[in-house]
Amino acid sequence: MDAKELQTTIQRAVTLLRSALEKLDGTQPSLSKDRESLIKAKVCLACNLPLGDKKVVRGCHEYCHKKIISRIRSGERTENDFISAGLLAPESPSGRKQLKNPLNDYLNTVESGVADKRKLKKPND
Ligand SMILES: [Zn+2]
Repeated sequence: MDAKELQTTIQRAVTLLRSALEKLDGTQPSLSKDRESLIKAKVCLACNLPLGDKKVVRGCHEYCHKKIISRIRSGERTENDFISAGLLAPESPSGRKQLKNPLNDYLNTVESGVADKRKLKKPND
């Protein structure tokens, strides 16, 4: 491995560590207004082509998103670098919000009640 290769390897390792720190930190930059307007106009942030009716991932075609992810995994850039450059939308909070309502409270109570009964019925205990 020559000096140039070694330098590239170290730089990628540093970028991967920066990526890991960004993940732990959990903060992501936001998109500028003009990049946000691209999403509303259904244009891919990465390639600037219409999104059409294909699957859209974080403001990009699925294919473009995969290309970005592979660049992040190779240590070329961090996720936040791509977001700052306006090429990737920030992550939206994942999962459906658990609604606080009486039905969920009741179901959770019943569920734990069933679990307790099962414990009691174990023949080996
Ligand atoms: Zn695209």
